[in-house]
Amino acid sequence: MKLGFIGLGAMGHSMAGHLHGKGLLAVVGNRTLAKARAFAEERGLRAAASAAAFADCDVVMLCVPMDADVLDNVGGLSTVLMPGSVVVDHSTVSVDTARAACERLAAHGIGFLDAPVSGGVEGAKNGKLSVMVGGAADELEKARTALEAYAARITHMGASGAGQATKAVNQVLVAGINQAVCEGLALGEKLGLDPDKLLPTLMSGAAANWFLDKRGATMLRSEFTPGFKCAHLLKDLRIVREMARAVGVNATVIEQSLSDYAELVERGLGDADTSALITLKRRG
Ligand code: NAP
Repeated sequence: MKLGFIGLGAMGHSMAGHLHGKGLLAVVGNRTLAKARAFAEERGLRAAASAAAFADCDVVMLCVPMDADVLDNVGGLSTVLMPGSVVVDHSTVSVDTARAACERLAAHGIGFLDAPVSGGVEGAKNGKLSVMVGGAADELEKARTALEAYAARITHMGASGAGQATKAVNQVLVAGINQAVCEGLALGEKLGLDPDKLLPTLMSGAAANWFLDKRGATMLRSEFTPGFKCAHLLKDLRIVREMARAVGVNATVIEQSLSDYAELVERGLGDADTSALITLKRRG
């Protein structure tokens, strides 16, 4: 199997590294080409200056920020990939984007899987991501060996779009957990509690969670290196709000988080980790 990977950011850099570790990766692409060149030169791979560089790939992975980035790349790939090849999108985008990408590629005999991931940069580094897949089961089988390079779990959720629908649910939980942890730790600070005792105590009881474990200590030190950027969670919440409105769900967590992350982005913290939410909680 010959693979390509597009989008060497906080997540994609590590994921592509795992594919290279398995000897599967041939070519990498990235908006800033210098990043792809550096990655490729270090590992003896090719860096893609255009979609044409992926023409001989059986599978191409995407991990890019926005819906438009996915559709742009899919547009380019649809003109160069061979029928029977598969594009796997690990970005978090809307169900509509996933279905549009799938249709566009299907017209050229190319498969598409929406396969967003959860587990954060730590999950990407450790190869322990949860991958939620929408699309045809036979397309998943073509890509499964590659996905296993960085997955702790691969779940086929259903037809095209089902992976992104699952990720939308995931992001509501992420947003709510962020709200609770940031508010709780801001309270702990104001009450003068010792973080070296507070964090392990919380992590040993019913309040334990991934975000507290991975971001608790750093947010108390006001270190907000991503991680997961505020701008990306804001983008996810906008997608999720539309879905919640369409089906009719009380969206209190989504609305509060949208307002908070929009404010953080406005204040210039779009590239900061989502744990920067604690700065709003500290204001009282
Ligand atoms: P990131 O750190 O901002 O990296 C994005 C990468 O994609 C950058 O290297 C960027 O290039 C490249 N890129 C942007 N537009 C592109 C385009 N049109 N064509 C090719 N490359 C392009 O983002 P990330 O945190 O890795 O997240 C990527 C996706 O995964 C997002 O949809 C995000 O919501 C999702 N996600 C993130 C996490 C997380 O914890 N970070 C977890 C799960 C899912 P430049 O070098 O030019 O910036």
